[in-house]
Amino acid sequence: MERVYIGMGSNLAAPAEQLRSAVAALARLPQSEWVGVSAFYQSDSLLPGQPRYTNAVAALDTTLAPLDLLDALQAIENEQGRERLERWGPRTLDLDILLFGDRLIDQPRLKVPHYHMQERAFVLYPLAELAPADLRLADGRTLAELLEACPFVGLERLTTN
Ligand code: ATP
Ligand code: MG
Ligand code: MG
Repeated sequence: MERVYIGMGSNLAAPAEQLRSAVAALARLPQSEWVGVSAFYQSDSLLPGQPRYTNAVAALDTTLAPLDLLDALQAIENEQGRERLERWGPRTLDLDILLFGDRLIDQPRLKVPHYHMQERAFVLYPLAELAPADLRLADGRTLAELLEACPFVGLERLTTN
């Protein structure tokens, strides 16, 4: 079993409801054991003119191969009506593999750790609810160090999931 962290985001069609459905779908993945989900957070879109995002991070233990997990996540995105119209466009559901054990993956379809997670408050703060502060990323920095360099700005932690 390897511990996997999955970043979830939605800014269309009742985002919190989308995340709750995604949690249920992730908990049913084959060859996998559910670990848990962070609180839900709201933040402004990185691109102007889009609705606010709701984000969370989920953790599971799996024996799925990384590309099989990616296939399963994309199937869940599609089931929840994800349309790929423009890059970084608004979406009903985005599921990104943030970390997969301590693997470094650099394939055309899959790069892990997820690029840019280091700078994204809406990834790091929910991740910190599930992962140990001494978790080390590929570049040697700990989660605690990344959090210190990434202010809690523009983020609102919701009290109910
Ligand atoms: P961002 O990557 O900036 O968060 P996004 O999540 O909106 O943007 P998507 O349209 O969801 O981007 O994904 C585009 C492609 O990224 C996917 O088809 C997938 O093959 C690839 N990809 C590469 N690495 C990963 C990863 N770690 N998790 C999920 N998808 C990945
Ligand atoms: Mg994404
Ligand atoms: Mg994505």
